[in-house]
Amino acid sequence: MTVTDQIHIIVVGAGFAGLTAAIEGVRHGHKVTLLESFPEVKALGDIISFGANAGRIFQRWPGVEKQFDEICIQSKGLLFKDYRGNNLIYQDWDKEPFYGKNFNGHRGEMHQIIYQHAIDVGVDIKLGCRVVDYFEDDKEAGVIANGMRYTGDVVLAADGVRSKGREIVLGYEDKPKSSGYAIFRTWFPSGELATNPLTKFMCENGDYHCGWLGPDIHFLAATTKGGKDFSWVCTHKDDADIEESWSTPGKIEDVRKVLEGWEPAVQAIIDATPSDYLVDWKLVYRDPVPTWVSPKARIALIGDAAHPFLPTSIQGASQAMEDGATIAVTLELAGKSNVTQALRAFEAIRYGRVRAAQLTGESTRDKWHKADFDNLLNSPEKIKLPREEWLLAHDAEKHAYAVYEETVAKLNAAA
Ligand SMILES: Cc1cc2nc3c(=O)[nH]c(=O)nc-3n(C[C@H](O)[C@H](O)[C@H](O)COP(=O)(O)OP(=O)(O)OC[C@H]3O[C@@H](n4cnc5c(N)ncnc54)[C@H](O)[C@@H]3O)c2cc1C
Repeated sequence: MTVTDQIHIIVVGAGFAGLTAAIEGVRHGHKVTLLESFPEVKALGDIISFGANAGRIFQRWPGVEKQFDEICIQSKGLLFKDYRGNNLIYQDWDKEPFYGKNFNGHRGEMHQIIYQHAIDVGVDIKLGCRVVDYFEDDKEAGVIANGMRYTGDVVLAADGVRSKGREIVLGYEDKPKSSGYAIFRTWFPSGELATNPLTKFMCENGDYHCGWLGPDIHFLAATTKGGKDFSWVCTHKDDADIEESWSTPGKIEDVRKVLEGWEPAVQAIIDATPSDYLVDWKLVYRDPVPTWVSPKARIALIGDAAHPFLPTSIQGASQAMEDGATIAVTLELAGKSNVTQALRAFEAIRYGRVRAAQLTGESTRDKWHKADFDNLLNSPEKIKLPREEWLLAHDAEKHAYAVYEETVAKLNAAA
């Protein structure tokens, strides 16, 4: 490939969608410039999960799997309990079909590894660049940031749930809405929880995962680093406002109110939680949009900018990564003179799959939150996490190669 054939991709946002699109872009021979509004990369966030469908993308990036193995959660299963303290069922990962390796860990720690990998493979990353506008014509697309114009062949807006890129794609400003739920989230050293008789089962034999279910609430706790770190998230009804931030402090007394009457182990976990580590995250949602691709098909939304997920899908970050892996392939196959076809094919390949994955988040939340708690002990199987082959065994890169030609043929026939 000559330099003039090389596709120049501008990526907006260095979350997992943007970094994956950038790394995969370079892997597939493209030139990538990535603009991120944060002035520096800090280890923000707490627990995040990547299914096997994302795991196999990470595994193609030299050195990443080894680094993840050192920091990721190594629990062997997930114990479900009800809010009264009854053990419901243990979901043993070794007894489930194996669709590939998943990676769960601290979002900030995992993000720093991927960010460094992007630099190592040659992604040109510009921090402190808040994109304020997007533009496109028949020959190029670009963005404005810090008073400068950045132009390329295509722009991928990976700017998260509050995406600015959505305006040019949709032609109007659509505000995110409340999902009706909020999540208290935290991560802290296990400390006294490692010796407390009520909670030490989560710390004494390495990493452990436990989920408590109650009426319209679930509380998931995990230990990592061999039981030394403790993390929990509590999803509960809340439609007070839709501010979403990873740094809005939460109040322990609010958690106590939400979990009043829950079993003593949960109370012990709340008692041990340092208040300065607690985040109150109002869970924003968006209805599916009709398209992720701009009118001239040179700008595409990817990741949360295109399709936010409920955490109960455990797929938001994985689907964001599949977007990046797919679009790198469609651009390679389409070539520089045909990038608009690549973006349309990307959307056609991904749209139905993403919607189906999003719906798993709603069904899991509903089966946990609206369970018949008085009879759950009789049929605990039904609250297990779904681990479906179509979702987890999927290889986004292979799939894109396999279906690209037929997808383009269908798009042309429909045009
Ligand atoms: C700081 C932070 C912490 C998070 N912590 C967790 C967590 O603990 N657990 C969890 O499950 N999920 C967490 N998430 C969300 C999770 O990472 C995403 O839902 C998922 O990985 C999809 O990623 P994304 O890349 O599409 O979006 P995001 O991860 O939201 O990334 C979007 C990126 O775009 C940047 N950006 C936004 N607007 C602009 C702009 N105008 N110009 C330039 N850059 C812009 C943002 O700064 C951000 O880096 C967090 C997200 C962020 C931003």
